[in-house]
Amino acid sequence: DSWIEVAGLDKQYQPRRSAPTQALRDINLTVRRGEFISVVGPSGCGKTTLLKILAGLSPKTAGTVRIAGTEVVRPLREVGMVFQAPTLLPWRTIFDNVMVPAEIQKLDPARHRARAQELLDMVGLTGFERKYPHELSGGMQQRAGICRALVHDPAVLLMDEPFGALDAMTREYMNVELLRIWRESGQTAVLVTHSIPEAVFLSDRVVVLSPRPGRIAEILTIDLDRP
Ligand code: ADP
Ligand code: ADP
Repeated sequence: DSWIEVAGLDKQYQPRRSAPTQALRDINLTVRRGEFISVVGPSGCGKTTLLKILAGLSPKTAGTVRIAGTEVVRPLREVGMVFQAPTLLPWRTIFDNVMVPAEIQKLDPARHRARAQELLDMVGLTGFERKYPHELSGGMQQRAGICRALVHDPAVLLMDEPFGALDAMTREYMNVELLRIWRESGQTAVLVTHSIPEAVFLSDRVVVLSPRPGRIAEILTIDLDRP
């Protein structure tokens, strides 16, 4: 029951004014439906590149990438993405930012407004719905970004260092919240993180990449009784 399938994936960046970089080499990975995997490794090992390819935001050089059986060549509607830095639209309220994916996909407004509110409540943003992004802290904006990624109930959630900019306390709180959201939704999740404890806490498996070029060094299965 593999939900994400990556086979023989190569990625080479070809900058116009410098030498090409082999960012990923022969990545093979399958993720089961409902599984939570983390991707860790030193800076420059290709974590973000891998996630961007899964998100359909960056073209691959060779290999196949499928999500729910569909070859990824552009962003799929089954996928929600959380970026490193908050990328909210400054001219929209927090609530209207969270609603963006539902609007783009022309999903039932009433149902998704209810879902948006539920998610905002879940991450502690009750009362901030009508505020604009600049009125909130970076951590709060990031939490709103997570709500936006989840509002259309995507089958796959891709997250690139979503808590990197948060203070330690908020980060731990968000990890617990994320685990709760993920358990109740049954989503398949891929998390890029620098934090091994975070990866171990959240994941079923941890993919360790090694750099130059980015390859899978090992895949660790986490076999802990979750709290
Ligand atoms: P990580 O997320 O693990 O830090 P990245 O995926 O950002 O790694 O980068 C992997 C490699 O690809 C690095 O050597 C990086 O310098 C290179 N790279 C990333 N993005 C680009 C780009 N747009 N153009 C050229 N090289 C890039
Ligand atoms: P709506 O009016 O439906 O709420 P938005 O306010 O998000 O939609 O604006 C619709 C589009 O107009 C946006 O996707 C964006 O491209 C553009 N836009 C609106 N306000 C700005 C702004 N302050 N700066 C840049 N682009 C804007």
